[in-house]
Amino acid sequence: MHMTQIIDGKAISAQIKDELKTKVAAMKAEGTQVTLAVIQVGDDPASSVYVGNKKKACEYIGIKSLAYELPEETPEKELLSLIEELNKKVDVNGILVQLPLPEHIDEDKVIATISPEKDVDGFHPQSVGALCIGQPGFVSCTPAGIIQLLKRSGIEISGKECVVIGRSNIVGKPMALLMLRENATVTVAHSRTKDLKEVAKRADILIVAIGKPKMITKEYVKEGAVVIDVGIHRDENKKLCGDVDYEDVAAVCSWVTPVPGGVGPMTIAMLMNNCVESVGLEAR
Ligand code: NAD
Repeated sequence: MHMTQIIDGKAISAQIKDELKTKVAAMKAEGTQVTLAVIQVGDDPASSVYVGNKKKACEYIGIKSLAYELPEETPEKELLSLIEELNKKVDVNGILVQLPLPEHIDEDKVIATISPEKDVDGFHPQSVGALCIGQPGFVSCTPAGIIQLLKRSGIEISGKECVVIGRSNIVGKPMALLMLRENATVTVAHSRTKDLKEVAKRADILIVAIGKPKMITKEYVKEGAVVIDVGIHRDENKKLCGDVDYEDVAAVCSWVTPVPGGVGPMTIAMLMNNCVESVGLEAR
């Protein structure tokens, strides 16, 4: 009988958070406090939930979080000077600006203002460039979390055919670079890819970050493949679902991430990991 194994992101993220908790306690005993500054502009309800979850994770691990809640109409200049101020503070290790920002603020400019040494989201062009040429730097949290899911489930990456569907700056592109760093043979597919089913079927490891509910069915999946679903949506019954049609795909793949409880919980765990790693890096 076909056996599909579930990659348990909830358990793996809990394990990572507990490891970090121990590490942070040891740092504290030596007099080092890890501090993350979290900036939110406006009060978008989804953003508030994400920011709340990040604060909760900080609390659990023992990271001090500083909350900056700015009004929706905050001028860009004001936000940039707050970031510059935080860049200079030796007692602030990481800076996170919750996206999306209001329309009158240029996101790229904001991201580029964060010192790369405090760029715990890994979105700064220098962080992305460092990842591309194999130098140390912060890595975008969702793709970094997927590497942990694979490794901690004992799934080999080296030499495997990997297909990443989606080429966004925060998921698809860094994901492809990370899989390359782990010695996979990587194909990046996207909305203009021809014969997507055929391309996807090459994959030993298929990573899906498209933003289309349940688009990936078993016709896209090779027998025995590992399937990682990054998507988060609510279906017609308001139930959470991913970009992958889980029930359909589970019948053919060897490993699969559920939604919820797969990739989702890993993003915050890796953010916390980046915060801990930011200690000792000197801002320029
Ligand atoms: P995005 O919209 O920025 O990018 C989507 C990508 O998919 C694009 O590169 C596009 O070329 C490709 N695409 C779109 N339609 C396609 C099609 N029909 N065929 C092939 N490729 C197609 O999205 P994103 O920010 O990368 O996020 C993707 C999904 O992951 C979303 O559902 C988002 O909510 C979710 N997400 C989850 C987490 C997490 O923590 N689990 C984090 C980030 C994003």
